[in-house]
Amino acid sequence: MKERIIVAKFGGTSVADTSQFRKVRDIVQSSPERRFIVVSAPGKRFPEDRKVTDLLLDCYEKAEAGEDFSPELERIRLRFTEILEGLRLEFPLDEEIRALKESLLTAPSRDYTASRGEYLTARIMAAYLGYTFVDPAWCVCFDEKGQPDLAMTGRTMRASLLPLSHAVIAGFYGADMNGVVHTFERGGSDITGSLAACAVGADLYENWTDVSGLYAADPRIVDRPETVPYMSYRELRTLSYMGASVLHSDAVLSASEAEIPINIRNTNRPQDPGTMIVRHLPHGVTKNPVTGVSGRKGMSVLQIEKVMVSDGSGFSALMLDILKERALPFEYCLTGIDSITLVIRTDLLETCREDLLEEIRSTLHPDFIGFRDNLSLIAVTGEKATESSDANVRVLETLTAEGIEISTINQGAGKLNLLIGVPDEKYESAIRAIYAFRQGEKGMKV
Ligand code: ASP
Repeated sequence: MKERIIVAKFGGTSVADTSQFRKVRDIVQSSPERRFIVVSAPGKRFPEDRKVTDLLLDCYEKAEAGEDFSPELERIRLRFTEILEGLRLEFPLDEEIRALKESLLTAPSRDYTASRGEYLTARIMAAYLGYTFVDPAWCVCFDEKGQPDLAMTGRTMRASLLPLSHAVIAGFYGADMNGVVHTFERGGSDITGSLAACAVGADLYENWTDVSGLYAADPRIVDRPETVPYMSYRELRTLSYMGASVLHSDAVLSASEAEIPINIRNTNRPQDPGTMIVRHLPHGVTKNPVTGVSGRKGMSVLQIEKVMVSDGSGFSALMLDILKERALPFEYCLTGIDSITLVIRTDLLETCREDLLEEIRSTLHPDFIGFRDNLSLIAVTGEKATESSDANVRVLETLTAEGIEISTINQGAGKLNLLIGVPDEKYESAIRAIYAFRQGEKGMKV
């Protein structure tokens, strides 16, 4: 039988100091299936602390401006020194810091500098665990413009990793054919983890962080919300899009294409099962009809009315062309009989609101056009259950019973989620009401 492979990625808070390194070691050593370990750079140890990547970027900016970056570089050196001393590890840190200083003085590169946090962390973690260190500069491939080459990365990573019994890979960066280092977006170690999981055909991609999974609602609004045990990739996408960000979305995409389950776990509470993100829920699992609720404040609704909009006049297409030309994204668009409703982030309208109205008036000659501001958009997500349940209807009833005005509703035929617009000042109470509704629902067997 093929042996199971787990790729485990540890985020910044999981490698923030010596005690976190020890927790990582205990987790990794508790299962030989955890063969490939991906690490971020040390994150914050306390709220006012700075992430090593931010300190590195400070160094780069100062170097670029010809300013003295030694205080920031010294802070970085001290953070790694503390970790090394705590772990009693021999490591050529001074040599590494000297090389970084040299590069900053001679030819500062933003991506190379930013990547050194992950590079050093992975080398230290590999030495600590007694695993092979894998530099992603050898196997995470970018083109010369800094775009990741996923096909090539898949092949190269597979060839580099599979022959190794256990390895630690630095997250967040790779290199092009000329050896020039490029990074992913911030938070990109998640992507490295998921690329590694796809490349080796992992059975599971574990993403270790500082929360015990994904909450069913924002813990800043709802007191100690429940953690969701199972969620589909699509549900996760919806919830993260509306603000519940735990995982980089590109990481979700590649894992979902390869159908590799993602398990969000807490390094500080390894006994918690966390959230399992899968394509299909396992049989027999009980699922709440509402998986989670999330949302965003600061939305504007643009309402356009014109008799005959819906009579194949191409009105809606022209409207969307106007937005496209302006590269103005919208959250959703609803076309009704003789009307179009568009929800757009208010901050994106700051500089173009009047121009936009003028262009629509002169191009489309609407009967009415107007904005309504200060709206929040709430996503009630619950994939499977909505097909057979009337939960969405009852969510709306709950809000009405709470006296919360519903300004817009959008439920596509896909029924993945219900999008509801409510006034900004009702946002928190609406989230609490929907969460309370969720808690009152009986789970349904899948
Ligand atoms: N260290 C990088 C950042 O702070 C990448 C990561 O942590 O995933 O964004």
